[in-house]
Parts: sequence; structure tokens; C-alpha cells
Amino acid sequence: MTVSKTDTVMKLGPCPICGKPGEHSFRPFCSKRCADVDLSRWLSGVYAVPAAEPQEGDEEEFMSPPRAEEA
Ligand SMILES: [Zn+2]
Repeated sequence: MTVSKTDTVMKLGPCPICGKPGEHSFRPFCSKRCADVDLSRWLSGVYAVPAAEPQEGDEEEFMSPPRAEEA
């Protein structure tokens, strides 16, 4: 038998919000509070920038010549 699962649980990184050791139940955060803080930041960021996606079509125009299908 192995203890790989236990090892994974023990190797949780620090909480990205407060830096405390992460809790498996709230990974990668240390508590529900920190998870909620991160969620609030994430949501506020999304709502603040409704349409900030880069247009991938610009690069495709450069890579594929317009006469490719005609030839
Ligand atoms: Zn935390």
C-alpha cells in the first residue's frame, strides 16, 4: 500500500490570500473566508471588465493569406 494520497494532502501550498498553510477543505485557501475573499475579487474583476478579450482574428489574418482558398 502507498501513502501518496496523504502526501498530496500534506503538500498544500500557502493560502494565496493570507499566506497561511492551505486547508484541504478550502484549497488552495486556508479557510472559507479567504476563499470568499478571492471569489469576491475575481467576480468584481470580471464585472469590471465585461469585454476585455483580445481578438485572435487579427493574428490569423497575418498568418493565412487571403488568396489561399482561391489557389
Ligand atoms: Zn488564508
